[in-house]
Amino acid sequence: MSIAAPTLAERLARPEILALAPCDIAGAPLPGTVRLDANENPYGALVTGQAGINRYPEPQPAMLRQRLADLYGVAPASLWVARGSDDAIDLLVRAFCRPGLDSIAVVEPTFSAYAQFARVQGAAVITARLTDDFAFDAAAVLATVGAQAPKLLFLCTPNNPTGTEIDPADIARIATALPDTLVVVDEAYGEFTNAPSQAAMASGNVVVLRTLSKAYGLAGARIGCAIADPQIIEILARVSPPYPLPTPSITAALDALGPERMPVHAERVSRLLADRDTLAARLAEASEIERLRFGGNFLFLEVADPAGLAKRLAAAAIRVRFRPNAAPGGVRITIGTEAENRAVLAVFSLSPASLPTRRAEIVRDTSETRIALAIDLDRAEPRRIDSGIPFYDHMLDQVAAHGGFSLTLACSGDLAVDPHHSVEDIAIALGQGLKQALGDKSGIARFGFALPMDEASAEVLVDLSGRPFARFDGSFATPAVGGLPTEMVPHIFRSIADSLGAAIHVRMGGDNDHHKVEACFKAFGRALRQGLSIEGRGDTLPSTKGVL
Ligand code: PMP
Repeated sequence: MSIAAPTLAERLARPEILALAPCDIAGAPLPGTVRLDANENPYGALVTGQAGINRYPEPQPAMLRQRLADLYGVAPASLWVARGSDDAIDLLVRAFCRPGLDSIAVVEPTFSAYAQFARVQGAAVITARLTDDFAFDAAAVLATVGAQAPKLLFLCTPNNPTGTEIDPADIARIATALPDTLVVVDEAYGEFTNAPSQAAMASGNVVVLRTLSKAYGLAGARIGCAIADPQIIEILARVSPPYPLPTPSITAALDALGPERMPVHAERVSRLLADRDTLAARLAEASEIERLRFGGNFLFLEVADPAGLAKRLAAAAIRVRFRPNAAPGGVRITIGTEAENRAVLAVFSLSPASLPTRRAEIVRDTSETRIALAIDLDRAEPRRIDSGIPFYDHMLDQVAAHGGFSLTLACSGDLAVDPHHSVEDIAIALGQGLKQALGDKSGIARFGFALPMDEASAEVLVDLSGRPFARFDGSFATPAVGGLPTEMVPHIFRSIADSLGAAIHVRMGGDNDHHKVEACFKAFGRALRQGLSIEGRGDTLPSTKGVL
């Protein structure tokens, strides 16, 4: 009888973990079963909006695992959902490193948790280094690490705090050169780079870590994952606590990763990258900054007088991370909101390059529709609209394009029932977004008038007065245009007027209903453009009442 050769996972895992029986946990919560197997309280928790938290969560929540697998383009069996990637690092160290015997390797300067968890476990830490210029040198890493066969080698790309990106070819080369080491590629900031993810390559001895803490804004929910060969995932499962993920975190993650949320996530990432570049370009003018790098959603500066900078930052109540281990004057600064970035510039006695933009995000969920939108009145791009009704997308795009503002909007709605809910709820959300982005309305022109023509004409008058009023003069001959019921057109303007707090008067005529609808939306965009525009420096309110 031939004995199968041990797998890589079996060769590398701690023998005592391999010998361990899986955790004894209550069975999966099948619908319709009487659950008396986990000593839970049968009564619901006394909190609002958290149904089911009197029960233990699924050890690996199937829906979230599937959603993350889809997000990263891997099979669910290759992915372990953990409490942030911190937890995934800890699981790896505990599963593979025997105290006093095994080691991990890191490439300094890098994220401190790798070495921290290793030391807690009693594993040694082998340290390779980036070059003096913080470049990744695969040959140097192999020369330092190679002979020592660490159980785990952590490679962080983009690297925290230096922003260094590692060439995928270098990762492949290292993984081949170190067959008895798990090469753990930490892609915590992966969404902030154009470099391809290694997730799809995570097999054999390559493990990839991802997190929802950065690009997806869920640091407080603590959700991340390890992606690896299913045999390695199976070993991680053995060292995981039985129910690692809190139910509210699972719900929040599924919510935040809804398909209609994804365009706003993408818009945020590109905004953070654009703001990072703007901030870096402005800071390059500060003579006290000797070197400036960036990567992910952060900058890494080296300053001549870190103590002096620390004092000024403290006086401005701004918290950043000083990284003297990376460089004597090393400081890592996260890209924040526009206002926060301005506060950073002020600490370096620099003025911002432009006025703040007027931006809003709206998330609006009902049992009929789920909507996420981002709007920026002072940027013309991006415009990305997915209402579920292509003709409505086209109309909303006209509003944004002619209105001169950026609009990212997506809706998952019950279109199979009727377009009504999606059409109306989007109009409400758009009005809310415009209202929120307008803020206190200082400096706006307030009024808008427009009269575009063809064989059809539409005149739209707008007053961003704070007082809702809608009037629609005109009628349609057909029941729908491009799947948009024409009876909804007046209703759209009423919904926007109500949620924006504006007077909107529409007068429309012509022969062709498609032209007539389009003329209304275009004219509305043009009217908005006038009303939203800032006149002068924008500190006066165009109302004798002193409030709008
Ligand atoms: N990896 C890197 C490189 C990080 O910078 C961080 C957070 N600072 C993490 C992992 C941990 O992220 P989380 O546990 O929130 O997923």
